[in-house]
Amino acid sequence: MKITFLGTSAGTPTRLRNVTAQALSFDHGGLWLLDCGEATQHQFMRTGLKSGRCERILITHLHGDHVYGLPGMLSCIGIHGRTEPVEICGPVGLREFLDTVLRISEAHLPYALHIREITSDAQALAPLAGWQVTAHPLSHRVRCWGYVLREADRPGRFHPDRAKRIGVPEGPLFGQLQRGEGVRLDDGRIVLSGDVTDPPRAGRVLALLGDTSDADGIAHAAHGCDLLVCETTYDAGREAKARAWGHSTTTMTGDLARRIAAKTLIITHFSSRYTEADDGQSAGNLMSVETLIAETRLACPGTTVLAASDLWNPQGMLPVIHESAYVDQTAIICGKIIIGENVFIGPYAVIRADEVDANGDMEAISIGSNSNIQDGVVIHSKAGGKVVIGEFCSIAHRSIVHGPCEIGDRVFIGFNSVVFNCSVGSGCVIRHNSVIENCHLPANFHIPSTTTIHSDADIAQVPHVNADASSFSESVAMTNMELVKGYKKLANEF
Ligand SMILES: [Zn+2]
Ligand SMILES: [Zn+2]
Repeated sequence: MKITFLGTSAGTPTRLRNVTAQALSFDHGGLWLLDCGEATQHQFMRTGLKSGRCERILITHLHGDHVYGLPGMLSCIGIHGRTEPVEICGPVGLREFLDTVLRISEAHLPYALHIREITSDAQALAPLAGWQVTAHPLSHRVRCWGYVLREADRPGRFHPDRAKRIGVPEGPLFGQLQRGEGVRLDDGRIVLSGDVTDPPRAGRVLALLGDTSDADGIAHAAHGCDLLVCETTYDAGREAKARAWGHSTTTMTGDLARRIAAKTLIITHFSSRYTEADDGQSAGNLMSVETLIAETRLACPGTTVLAASDLWNPQGMLPVIHESAYVDQTAIICGKIIIGENVFIGPYAVIRADEVDANGDMEAISIGSNSNIQDGVVIHSKAGGKVVIGEFCSIAHRSIVHGPCEIGDRVFIGFNSVVFNCSVGSGCVIRHNSVIENCHLPANFHIPSTTTIHSDADIAQVPHVNADASSFSESVAMTNMELVKGYKKLANEF
């Protein structure tokens, strides 16, 4: 399962963080939401998650920064095709809030909305897709619940090679063994599931908390959890304020993680006093989310501590975009990305540096000055690999640059081409609908359209670049610089 943070700001949104919501995507394809601050449906559109798959919504409490997005989100789920029921659980008052807003706005949902108000401590919800959910009271200014999600034990890994070795024929018997059943072979021998599968794996346990200054009510149920997600509104020095407002500091959250022996802690729900620094707007306030992580880690040495940022960016790394660059509003720029001077990023381009390597590190995707990334281009990297695009490059509509990749200066990549795991020398021109992977393309190479190159050996078959193609690339890049100016004017930017 995967957790996507849709909002990580406390109380009010900031430029880079929306108010609270988290999406949980499960292996069976279903989706749950935890809280639903205002504009959660807008955040959803930027994730690639399908809101029509939403089957359950868990609400921690009824403060506006956790529920004002609900009416829009519920409608959005319907518009995206849901007809099966949706269950929504939360504190008493949830029914009145939803009934009222849906009635007054005459909203007609195309699915049944089952509203369930939680009234007693440690209440269990109906198990769904192999997950047990219990609600536990948290101390906040209003009634607030934290949820523990407990997965059923999963079958151990099946080893088909072992099964074959002892004479089990491939087919339905494999399935029976995978499901934990024993089978009888044609020669009368019995093979037990345990002979060819590992022991069952313990199910995962997640503890997802709402706002709180005292989480004792969930501590027992959450003990030993794989993941604890907890608000950390303030730094350690603001404990009095935190307690007065029913919130937690870094030390309080870290202390909880240590007491319940959480394996991983993700802190979220940050006061804007720290996160405004994310977008360079901090007015001399030097304390940042980095400081909050450091303080939290001190309080729980045995736990891995991460800070959430919107749209799941595990290390909280944010794009650095030169002020002269033009990034279309519909483009998605996520993670550790560096965009240079006068770069143009067209509509619906997706540039994501959001996968880390085995050590939790990632290298940046950087785009050199005066380069042009046209509509619908996708630039991504596997497992934290580096992507460098040089200066004056032009990446045409719908092409894909998938890291690790190093692309020199003045390179042209034509419509719909794919470049993966390779280095491309300066001055190269790759025409449309080509696939270039696992190779080093020397400088000034011309790749005709629809060429496929899978290795350095394939390059020998391609003739060297000619001057026409090279000047073609340059003229495209120059046009693009004009494009940046034009678009900036359209957006009233100068
Ligand atoms: Zn809140
Ligand atoms: Zn609250």
